[in-house]
Amino acid sequence: MDDVSWSDEELKASIEAYVEMQRNERTGQLIVKKQYYKKLVEMFGRSERVFESLMQNISYVLSLMGRGWMSGLKPARDIGPLVAARIEQLLEQISGQKAVPVAAFEIAVREAAEQKDLPKPSGNPRPKRRRISVAQLERDPNVKAWVLQQAAGTCESCEKPAPFQGADGSPYLELHYVQGLADGGADAVSNAVALCPNCHREIHYGANAQAVEAWLYDTVQRLERD
Ligand SMILES: [Zn+2]
Ligand SMILES: [Zn+2]
Repeated sequence: MDDVSWSDEELKASIEAYVEMQRNERTGQLIVKKQYYKKLVEMFGRSERVFESLMQNISYVLSLMGRGWMSGLKPARDIGPLVAARIEQLLEQISGQKAVPVAAFEIAVREAAEQKDLPKPSGNPRPKRRRISVAQLERDPNVKAWVLQQAAGTCESCEKPAPFQGADGSPYLELHYVQGLADGGADAVSNAVALCPNCHREIHYGANAQAVEAWLYDTVQRLERD
């Protein structure tokens, strides 16, 4: 909703509420979204509906980042790149993460792709260099090694063989943390699966990501919800 201009305080409080609701949803606690919106209305005015659509915008930014979003808050695309970038930044601050920003770029792509007569871009032979700092969570190589051994060359989602061999000759599969490390997930075999690149992309960016995730929890015995 680009016609709503959000202050940093409003965005921060809303994102904190979102993250808390999401955490409670994950741990199976009952959450009443309305109560969160009420609290935000008490703090800032506006209406509950406006905060609800902001929550859906937060889902949209999370989906662009390849992160999980709350099932009851379907991603809503009606935000511009600038607000999205601020939301992304605040989300990272709150989770203590810092990844390469993607939201503003992806929204600009989607906006352009919807233009009927998008002129052929001339591009840029020398893209400008930009320095950014990222924060990465340390991971145990044995977790990945063990999960890959268990998968034995077969994707644990679609149960098909790895689609190709890596340059080292081993079947190519990727490690996925069912609850993302950025969302507080553990670097543990009870939270990791080996996926083919297709399934891995789908579980991060696909419309059916939540169904795939539920299927994995049902099917892969070593997975534990926390
Ligand atoms: Zn697969
Ligand atoms: Zn992943």
